[in-house]
Amino acid sequence: MTLQFHNTLTGEVEKFESIVPGKVSIYTCGPTVYDYPHIGNWVAYIYWDTLVRVLMANNYDVNRVMNITDVGHLVSDADDGEDKLEKGARREGKTAWEVAEFYTEDFLKGMKQLGLIKPQFIAKATDYIPDQIKLVQKLIDKGYTYQIDDGIYFDTSKFPTYADFAHLDLDAQKAGARVEFNQQKRNASDFALWKFTPAGEKRDMEWDFEDKKGFPGWHIECSAIAMSILGDTLDIHTGGIDHIPVHHTNEIAQSEAANGVIFSNYWLHNNHLKVNNTKISKSLGNGYTLKDLQEKGFSPLDFRLFVLQSNYRKEGNFTFDNLQSAKNRLHNWRNIAALRHQIHDTLQSETEKAKDDKTISLLATSQAIIEALNDDLGTPQALKVIDEAFARIARSSLSRIDRQSFIQLLETIDSTLGLQLIDSTPDISDKIKKEIIERNNARDKKDWKKSDEMRDKLLKSNIAIRDTNSETIWEYQQ
Ligand SMILES: [Zn+2]
Repeated sequence: MTLQFHNTLTGEVEKFESIVPGKVSIYTCGPTVYDYPHIGNWVAYIYWDTLVRVLMANNYDVNRVMNITDVGHLVSDADDGEDKLEKGARREGKTAWEVAEFYTEDFLKGMKQLGLIKPQFIAKATDYIPDQIKLVQKLIDKGYTYQIDDGIYFDTSKFPTYADFAHLDLDAQKAGARVEFNQQKRNASDFALWKFTPAGEKRDMEWDFEDKKGFPGWHIECSAIAMSILGDTLDIHTGGIDHIPVHHTNEIAQSEAANGVIFSNYWLHNNHLKVNNTKISKSLGNGYTLKDLQEKGFSPLDFRLFVLQSNYRKEGNFTFDNLQSAKNRLHNWRNIAALRHQIHDTLQSETEKAKDDKTISLLATSQAIIEALNDDLGTPQALKVIDEAFARIARSSLSRIDRQSFIQLLETIDSTLGLQLIDSTPDISDKIKKEIIERNNARDKKDWKKSDEMRDKLLKSNIAIRDTNSETIWEYQQ
């Protein structure tokens, strides 16, 4: 299967072709660092990490940028209200700079816990202020802007294809704009490129531009950072579907107005995660953090598998029952992964080892996983392939499994889905192996008391013993 993705730009699933063969540039809209990210925020980063892994499995050299919004993201998500960072700063009695630093560190820690590959560039908006000013200046020079009391705005009527990306109904927006607070704007859809610090106010974060103190609008940072690092046209831009009508529409308008070339060839958008079929919101207190999950006994990787169980374009529904199922599934998979230590192991009898009449090779399974993922990141299908292969392994005698292709399968799962099956399933110690042999000897001699004692002893080391017709298998206890 050739690699293909659903492209928001065309509304179709399209074959992926990069600008430079073998190389791919990706821009991911990153977090606004004013609070702990909740599980709904993390979903996007898990899917985009999978995208990166799938591209790598297809031998692409990935160059990816993710921004950190540490200034300019206003509470209303449009151009009104307070800056989230400045608001966070007052809430915590810190400066906006301190708040940004604290939550950036927390975000990076969460990325690591979830096993997300670090993008080649993590770009803080405040580190790219000159680039943003340069882009605003370019738009001023080209006549796309106008200045009003509170800032410099992009005149969307001067960009004829403004409504196309999100299929916006601009007339309806105009009608709905009566109650809008900023009456100086020419069109309801116009957006701030640069905001001035209100008179008499002192912000923690502000810069000089047009003879005044001010700060960038939220949208400009993504265009400026993407262009500065990746060039005028990207291969792939990713984000959440909530970004389509405003943030990404504005990114396209300002970038393409400035450069006269297409901003990104592919746009991938992930759907929302609901919690108990309800939208995540502060007031409901359902915006669980990774820490909340850990306190309830779920690891970040349990959550990762939970997310991968749904396709990125489908709305997800989080419940603790669903997370428990993912946790159980991961636990079972780890016990299958641990079988690699037990193929040709001293625990198995010589006669079993010799019986390799019908060896099960898993090479085709590795390929099937990549095929499933190549089809618009088909993670649920890839997980199904794994379930089927693992069920086959569980049913067969260990001696029949081709160890090398089995290890290769585990490596494929880990590299494409980031589930760390190999790292999380170490071999048991020699001491425990001896105890299992001792227990098996007792069982063979029908010394049930000793056999049971040894079994209990092993359980205390979190190792459970399972006897099949021909083999003894050890498993990790949950
Ligand atoms: Zn963005």
